[in-house]
Amino acid sequence: MTDESKTKDVYHVLLFYKFVRIDDPDSVVNAHEEFCRTNNLRGRILLAPEGINGTVSGTAADCMRYEHWLRSDSRFADIVIKSDEVSGHVFRKLFVRKKEEVVTFRIGHDLTPEAPVGRHISPAEWKSLLERGDVLVLDGRTGYEYDLGHFRGALRPPVDSFREFPEWIRANLADKKDKTILTYCTGGIRCEKLTNFLLEEGFNDVGQLDGGIVTYGKDPETRGALWDGLCYVFDERISVPINATEDRRIVGTCYHCGTPTETYVNCANLDCHRQHLVCTSCDISTDRSCSEACRTAPRREQFVRN
Ligand SMILES: [Zn+2]
Ligand SMILES: [Zn+2]
Repeated sequence: MTDESKTKDVYHVLLFYKFVRIDDPDSVVNAHEEFCRTNNLRGRILLAPEGINGTVSGTAADCMRYEHWLRSDSRFADIVIKSDEVSGHVFRKLFVRKKEEVVTFRIGHDLTPEAPVGRHISPAEWKSLLERGDVLVLDGRTGYEYDLGHFRGALRPPVDSFREFPEWIRANLADKKDKTILTYCTGGIRCEKLTNFLLEEGFNDVGQLDGGIVTYGKDPETRGALWDGLCYVFDERISVPINATEDRRIVGTCYHCGTPTETYVNCANLDCHRQHLVCTSCDISTDRSCSEACRTAPRREQFVRN
């Protein structure tokens, strides 16, 4: 960067993962914690013996420093980093932790770099496969993420956490093993584990959207076509747009009245905090509460409507 004054207010949010053997997760945690504190980065970085999974926000310059520093560790030299421009930090604090898995799926089943996973499908191929219509498209996320936006025609697994997928797949898709099955998730990491599981279960033709929904949304050729609604993200933005074509539909509906909406809020009752889609008028009439009991609850969040 030649002129830092010009870019001093530009912030980035980075999203990255890699499955790679990490024998010293504790020391990697400490190093990341220290580097991020020193360089004003916020977000969430998980380290496990199977790899790294992270998302951080900071100024463009701080993010660039982090990227260089991350790649200086040979294990992460070729890591794929997705970057979005944002107007400020999208995380309140920094959270760096060692976990058993970088994304919780099946404790005790680490995904090694050698493990078979579904073939990675480029955005252009993904779009033409979806248009073909004879493939099974499985959303690899939870129900509430699906409800805000998803690929047209995708299956919605009625799960509240990623851990529930194996049981649901065994109960509902066991007779679909000869079909082409394609999975997608926000940034791609969940699909690595999900497609590995599908292959283990005996599905014959398994593919995954390379780079996830966020990469698909940036692809200049497909322009997010066939994505309806918004993409749920795990930071303060809550959602990001994906489909930049004219053929874009709102799929979210108000929890109270069913009107189309794309606004997710947390119930203002601090002892509930249920995340729900709400239309503008119900947000006001319910005072941002998911129920009458929550509206009159003793511990409520003070918020300013904007
Ligand atoms: Zn409503
Ligand atoms: Zn509530």
